[in-house]
Amino acid sequence: MPKRTTWFFTDAAVLACYRGDKWLAEGDPVAVALPRTVEEVVEVFERARCMGVPVTTRGAGTGHAGGCMPSQGGIVLSMERFNRIHEVSAKDFVAVVGAGVLTGDLHSAARRKKLFYPPDPASYDECTIGGNIATNAGGPRCLKYGVTGHYVLGLDVVLADGSVVQCGGRTHKNKTGFNLAGLFVGSEGLLGVVTQATLRLLPLPPSRATLSAGFESMQAAANALQELFRTGLLPAAAEIADSFTLEAARAYLPRAKQTQFPPGNAHLLIEWDGQPAAVTADVATSVDLLVHGKATRVDVAQSESECKKLWELRKVFSTALKATGLRKLNEDVVVPRGHLVAFMKFARQLQKRSGFPVACFGHAGDGNIHTNIMVANPDDPAIACRARETLDELFAYVLECGGTITGEHGIGLAKLPWWNAATTPALRHLHQQIKTALDPANILNPGKFL
Ligand SMILES: Cc1cc2nc3c(=O)[nH]c(=O)nc-3n(C[C@H](O)[C@H](O)[C@H](O)COP(=O)(O)OP(=O)(O)OC[C@H]3O[C@@H](n4cnc5c(N)ncnc54)[C@H](O)[C@@H]3O)c2cc1C
Repeated sequence: MPKRTTWFFTDAAVLACYRGDKWLAEGDPVAVALPRTVEEVVEVFERARCMGVPVTTRGAGTGHAGGCMPSQGGIVLSMERFNRIHEVSAKDFVAVVGAGVLTGDLHSAARRKKLFYPPDPASYDECTIGGNIATNAGGPRCLKYGVTGHYVLGLDVVLADGSVVQCGGRTHKNKTGFNLAGLFVGSEGLLGVVTQATLRLLPLPPSRATLSAGFESMQAAANALQELFRTGLLPAAAEIADSFTLEAARAYLPRAKQTQFPPGNAHLLIEWDGQPAAVTADVATSVDLLVHGKATRVDVAQSESECKKLWELRKVFSTALKATGLRKLNEDVVVPRGHLVAFMKFARQLQKRSGFPVACFGHAGDGNIHTNIMVANPDDPAIACRARETLDELFAYVLECGGTITGEHGIGLAKLPWWNAATTPALRHLHQQIKTALDPANILNPGKFL
């Protein structure tokens, strides 16, 4: 008889809240654990062994790949109560945080000390640092600053056999043995449970500016961005949106806000940060380049509140596309940066060939374009089959041009059908050997890509 606790639940009402993430499929856990301490996390594995069930770790369930979905039932281990920011050190430029801390809370805590934690998944208000580490989350600012993994200095991890390891530490350099903290970055809950992270911080850039520019076509917008890079400039972020996305956003926003988008069928949002003089110079050069690239209008925001307003336009895209009533098959493919213009052309052709609207928006500077196949009646078998063929075509193109099938969301369940196409047998074997070494009984998150 398991002992009674205030952190282990089997009631249906609790289980119902932990069935999946933002992806399509859901699973049925037999129990949900909400531990507060490392000892309780270890106990979850003891209970799982007694019950003969697997353990699926969960952050906030904002993932887009079904990663925290308990596909084989068992215990969902939610890290939401590990939500303490233990330390933000202006001396060492590190933060020590529980895995369940919301990314946005860390942004604010760092900012209060004039420090900066750059990784900024658009879900930062609701996703956790543990989830960000396990998916190696990106976001707009990753263009200049890199992804979550670039900020991980140390991790405390509970392994599937209940042992506790500390990898790395609080120094900004560390070459003691293998980079084992790095092994858990992007591991999607398959190798261990991250309980605490020590993260690298930067000085807060004292100045920022945001540019919003309209274009007649995606080709023109992508060309203008390429020109910016060719000139030797590297913005903090460069986000693009196509006409379907813009139309959806204009329809979704209240009338007064619709005109905040410059006219046109494509949109670029560009962020600059740094020392005030550098930001002023970069803004001037980039406005010239955008105008020369035939922007329909360029709006420049330089105060914190004006910049925030322009970013609010970007934040509405995902919700606006959902509000069209079509099922949004959201793929976070990445093409090499130089391939951006060609990719936009391919997306238009894919739309024509498939008959599905293809809505593209996202992190253009990284070549990481959220490509949404918009499907009406997705439960009709003939339509589902055509949608699958369209996705096959998308991923085949991306792999052919040296890109990847996922830049930040992970494989999870969503990309499982294309995992083999994206990897060689030798690479899959190596993944499997690592998994077997750390989790020989396959207790952690089974049914995913290994
Ligand atoms: C509106 C919206 C915008 C988004 N924008 C972005 C974006 O710009 N960039 C981006 O990268 N993603 C984005 N995402 C996707 C998502 O927010 C990220 O993948 C995020 O990192 C998931 O964090 P989470 O805490 O919700 O993790 P979950 O969804 O709960 O879990 C994700 C994976 O991490 C594992 N995991 C979670 N916590 C731990 C832990 N402590 N130890 C070990 N494994 C763990 C889970 O098992 C699962 O495999 C967005 C999502 C939404 C809804």
